[in-house]
Amino acid sequence: MQTLESYVAGRWQAGDGGERTLIDPTQDVPIASVSSEGVDFGAVRAHAVEQGGPALRGMTFLERGRMLKDLSAALHEHREELIELSVQNGGNTRGDAKFDIDGATGTLAAYAHFSKGLGERPFLPDGEGIQLGRTARFWGQHILVPRQGVAVHVNAFNFPGWGMFEKAACAWLAGVPVIEKPGTPTAHPAWRMAHIAVESGLLPEGAFQFVVGGLGDLFDRLEAQDCVAFTGSAATARIIRSHANLIAKGVRINVEADSLNAAVLAPDVDAGSETYGLFLANIVLDMTQKTGQKCTAVRRILVPAERVDDVSRDLVAELGRIAVGDPRDKTKRMGPITDGRQARDVREGIEALSAVGQLACGGTDAPAGAPAGGHFIAPTLVVATDGDADVIHEREVFGPVSTVLPYDGEAQSAVDLVCRGGGGLVTSVYSNDPDWTETYVLGVAPWHGRVWVASDRSAEQSLPPGMVLPGMIHGGPGRAGGGEELGAERGLALYMQRVALQGFKGFVDGRFGAQKDEA
Ligand code: NAP
Repeated sequence: MQTLESYVAGRWQAGDGGERTLIDPTQDVPIASVSSEGVDFGAVRAHAVEQGGPALRGMTFLERGRMLKDLSAALHEHREELIELSVQNGGNTRGDAKFDIDGATGTLAAYAHFSKGLGERPFLPDGEGIQLGRTARFWGQHILVPRQGVAVHVNAFNFPGWGMFEKAACAWLAGVPVIEKPGTPTAHPAWRMAHIAVESGLLPEGAFQFVVGGLGDLFDRLEAQDCVAFTGSAATARIIRSHANLIAKGVRINVEADSLNAAVLAPDVDAGSETYGLFLANIVLDMTQKTGQKCTAVRRILVPAERVDDVSRDLVAELGRIAVGDPRDKTKRMGPITDGRQARDVREGIEALSAVGQLACGGTDAPAGAPAGGHFIAPTLVVATDGDADVIHEREVFGPVSTVLPYDGEAQSAVDLVCRGGGGLVTSVYSNDPDWTETYVLGVAPWHGRVWVASDRSAEQSLPPGMVLPGMIHGGPGRAGGGEELGAERGLALYMQRVALQGFKGFVDGRFGAQKDEA
């Protein structure tokens, strides 16, 4: 069994006891162990702040952008090897593995591209300057400067590649060093990517450290210029948010957490339309891609009450085409759940949802023909008999599971039900009626980070709602954590200090104004 080490303070270091075991979930076979026991987290933070930060801040945005581009290329060279590791450790099909790895390299490349608009100065002007005094002599300008601490990135198990590098891309472009911690169950591909990043020699020393296992006393050591970006469950987010030292020092915390994403079929969409075809295809993709272990996957499907039977029948037929089994087998389109703990949690969730509805397909039994010992669960559709039941709107079942809910066809009724989720990452709506859709969009917008709209006009070109894009923000209010990532230049804000600069216009505008970039 392989031992995975952390890359800390300029060297690879194996843990000293307290190992956790990683498995291949297809047959529940151990493949590697991790531990961070013995890591000196005081030295880890100091290494980032004393070496990584100054080195990154000594580079221009363009230079940091070139670094991201080259790192993207270096990782891409190892694509096949990384896909194999994701298949083994994550139970990913080849397509699922590509989604994560190409997401990582694609986001690095996108941020390299965004760097081109940021200029050569060591700060970013934020918006236009404004006159503050009686005349234009006294002037104001907001600017953003890199913070001088370290960014601690705590990642979820479901996207070991994309999760790590989408965060790192934003921090590095802003000029801030990172300490990356992958979710332990799928740390193997993350560890390999960390090796590639270090061996590439592209990153200045201290800009990148990587910790497998726990973070020890790192949070006790963080200071006011540091930040934590967390992706994972709401329960872990609560623990991190209430950490005494993080509160005392005012450490910035960004949270990306659970979400009960909803897809809504409007009454105007008839069963023969392109939009209806897209509705079915996107729901099946969301439920089965990465075995439903995707923060943006659809968990609730709202359908006009009189069409629930027909739509459920169509979804069951489509889900029935998804062959579940060993992800190495190219005929299989869905692999196992990542480990036994997650699979147990999904089965409990299916039982809880079934108590307020009827199983249309799937369930808690292992699917026929799946490898023995593996953590397999079939695509599971529940049709709610009580669409009002709290469990449907509150419990994220992190697997290939979704619930169909009836509603009366009114846009406002859909809004009311969807917002019962308490805040989400994304909601998708399928309609060719602009008035209906506008009411829905404005009703759900305060509760969501992203609203995705399908109609016959855009069906052919639309990217799926479950796909997070680097040029647009990712995050959501309330249950979804209240955080915000990506969104091109917006993604840098977590790592930078916004400063309101006020003084003589000749100085403020001349040295810091936006027009300097256009010159
Ligand atoms: P999790 O159990 O909350 O773990 C997330 C990360 O937190 C892991 O790296 C975990 O480390 C670490 N962690 C656990 N306890 C901690 C503590 N006390 N202090 C510091 N770190 C701690 O979540 P998960 O099971 O990995 O991921 C699934 C969840 O993530 C789902 O709820 C999903 O919705 C959410 N998610 C959200 C997004 C988003 O963008 N909003 C994206 C992906 C996933 P170990 O693995 O070592 O325990």
